[in-house]
Amino acid sequence: MSEFATQQIQAGYVPGTPQNSAIPPIYQTAAFQFASLADAADLFALRKTGNLYSRNASPTQQVLEERVAALEGGASAVAVASGQAAVAVTLLALVGRNGHIVAANQLYGGTVDLLQDTFEDFGIRTTFVDQDDPEAWRAAITPQTRALFAESVANPVAQVLDIRLVADIAHEAGVPLVIDNTVGTPFLVRPGEHGADFVVHSATKFLSGHGTSLGGVVVDQGTFDFGADPERWPQFTAPYKRFGELVLWERFGIGQSFAPLVKSKYVHDLGPSLSPFNSWQILLGIETLDLRVSRQSATALAVAKHLQQHPAVAKVNHPGLDDNPWHDLALRYLPRGVPSVFSFELAGPEDDSTHERVARVVDSLKVVRLIANIGDARSMVAHPASMTHSHLNAEQRAAAGISLNTIRLSAGLEDPADIIADLDQALALA
Ligand code: PLP
Repeated sequence: MSEFATQQIQAGYVPGTPQNSAIPPIYQTAAFQFASLADAADLFALRKTGNLYSRNASPTQQVLEERVAALEGGASAVAVASGQAAVAVTLLALVGRNGHIVAANQLYGGTVDLLQDTFEDFGIRTTFVDQDDPEAWRAAITPQTRALFAESVANPVAQVLDIRLVADIAHEAGVPLVIDNTVGTPFLVRPGEHGADFVVHSATKFLSGHGTSLGGVVVDQGTFDFGADPERWPQFTAPYKRFGELVLWERFGIGQSFAPLVKSKYVHDLGPSLSPFNSWQILLGIETLDLRVSRQSATALAVAKHLQQHPAVAKVNHPGLDDNPWHDLALRYLPRGVPSVFSFELAGPEDDSTHERVARVVDSLKVVRLIANIGDARSMVAHPASMTHSHLNAEQRAAAGISLNTIRLSAGLEDPADIIADLDQALALA
């Protein structure tokens, strides 16, 4: 097994004939020609795996899947059109009709929208809990619960999850733990090593690092045994309706059954396929993941320390700081560094004047840009209360640790001195 830096460049691709391309090629084709009708029938019936139609998978996408699975230490992976799609198809495949999810309060706003609005429309219910409260996780689990869901490092307040604690609670109840590791990145933390069974990513962020392309990935860590309680998991253990007598768990087994279900049902039916070009762009980004993340983490910590001393800043939410409530968890789970997405609170009351004060600061930034993204090469700010988390009510925002004064910062690859000088000139206007 190679080390991380080697895998991020090599995993999933061996140059081969006919062209011996050193870089994985972009297979920009909607469909593939079959060798024969018998070959086509085998592929359609899942008797055989191979190239069929790019809605289900493309060879460029498969390199990406293998690479992210390798980086997360997982067994298999599925890449889809966005992080949002990765979360959606993962939970649909696990939870099914009338199922129940227990999720952390501290989630990306788009995930909250999915869980409390769209999933509710389809009869999938979610109970939100404080991720730091083990009793709340336990108490929320019902006989219908089919997944526990949280982010390894939440956005924008950077709460660090005690992954092992929540994984043990999930496993005591016989359900898998799904972790969104978008902010954490597999370079800083591999949730599978701490008990997570499925790891999802918005590949749009750190995996890409360039901000050009949307994408998402889910990794099956190969740890959850759906066969241990077959009645609870009929999607894996009973005949798969559209494929006659095929039972995924018997055909593919642990670590290899989830991807065929997601691809042949949810991606096939709903269509959130990743394009070959975006797969390729994300692969290119991954080649420099460790270098970017190391540098961005160091910059973010330096910026956080500077902001902590600033009179216009009331509080800095960065778990690399000694007095942060999640500092001990950061030392345990993030020994290589804390992610570069964190937030700070402007000093001043939360009242009618807050928005104007925040706008004065944000609108006068020049190096740091106002962009609703994280984890790419440029430094970006967002105001969660009016942007990414604007659909949450005041109570939900408070539970996620977000106030009207909260400004999220994603530290980029610019010179740290320029980022700090830019923040200083903007904060002087607060
Ligand atoms: N998960 C997290 C933690 C995110 O921050 C985001 C996007 O901001 C998503 C998922 C959704 O990803 P995408 O924008 O690629 O759909």
